[in-house]
Amino acid sequence: MPRPRLRRRIFNQPEITYFKPAGVPIAQLEQTILSFDEIEALRLKDYEGMDQSEAAKKMNVSQPTFHRLIVSARKKTADALVNGKSIRIQGGVFKMARPGLGRRAGGPPTKCICPVCKARVPKKRGIPCAQMKCPDCGAMMTRG
Ligand SMILES: [Zn+2]
Repeated sequence: MPRPRLRRRIFNQPEITYFKPAGVPIAQLEQTILSFDEIEALRLKDYEGMDQSEAAKKMNVSQPTFHRLIVSARKKTADALVNGKSIRIQGGVFKMARPGLGRRAGGPPTKCICPVCKARVPKKRGIPCAQMKCPDCGAMMTRG
């Protein structure tokens, strides 16, 4: 029997989950799939610049597990960039760190938060937070 996988904890679930090379029809594209826990590893380590032990702790996984996640995430991302593949973000075994941060059963988030200055603005219907600019500092918002 396979060992049950621990649920990884993630703090950010990207709103944009599909990236494709410009000018290539989807039917001709190969697709790379990144799981939400892989992209979270990438975000913590390579975007936020955390060290591995800190990032592993945040995600509630061992350092070897975190290492496997980040290696896999980098390899898939590199494969997509080098070979012109699309990237889809989906799946993975994880739970959101706090209720309200992720996709809620009750509907979309009602507020967007600026990751830079922490300003909160009401979410506009049909516009992802990631496409809204912070009214105070101009940074792109994240979901509240
Ligand atoms: Zn701001």
